[in-house]
Amino acid sequence: MESVSLPRRGFLRGHIRTVTPGLRPPWALAETEFVERCTRCDACLQACPSSIVVHGDGAYPVVDFGRGECTFCGDCVEACEPAALRRAEHAAPWALKAAVGGKCLAMQGVECRVCGEICGHSAIRFRPRIGGVALPELDPETCNGCGACVAPCPAQAIAMESNG
Ligand code: SF4
Ligand code: SF4
Ligand code: SF4
Repeated sequence: MESVSLPRRGFLRGHIRTVTPGLRPPWALAETEFVERCTRCDACLQACPSSIVVHGDGAYPVVDFGRGECTFCGDCVEACEPAALRRAEHAAPWALKAAVGGKCLAMQGVECRVCGEICGHSAIRFRPRIGGVALPELDPETCNGCGACVAPCPAQAIAMESNG
């Protein structure tokens, strides 16, 4: 995975290490600027009503969809005084979309429609197939990147991937 060097002031203090980027909270600045601005104050962790913001590498905040979904409430952004999270008008929170991987039970021939039932945006549909179980079809245009389908998947087959 790509690594980003800590900012120059960290270098001058002698803290030479790299930070592995994770899924930053919504409306985060680009990774290099984010790491430069974020003071690791934990205000976003405490502000998130869904408790999905947790410590990532170097104690920088990351989103863990295994804990729930992002409601895009923006509470983390408002809590971020250094403005490492910054919500510009009409700006998308992130470029993440759900992607169904090969561990999907339906793809193994087992009837399962959990993700389709959980998705409040009808972004995952199941098309009936002759001679096999229905397979999930994800519409990236409809998916808003909330991550609600990640945790309920019994096979942990859904990942949130950046399409930006
Ligand atoms: S937008 Fe709201 S739900 Fe999403 S990570 Fe921020 S505080 Fe949590
Ligand atoms: S509130 Fe802002 S500065 Fe504080 S840990 Fe979260 S992103 Fe970093
Ligand atoms: S991320 Fe949200 S909108 Fe996208 S498929 Fe999953 S539940 Fe539906």
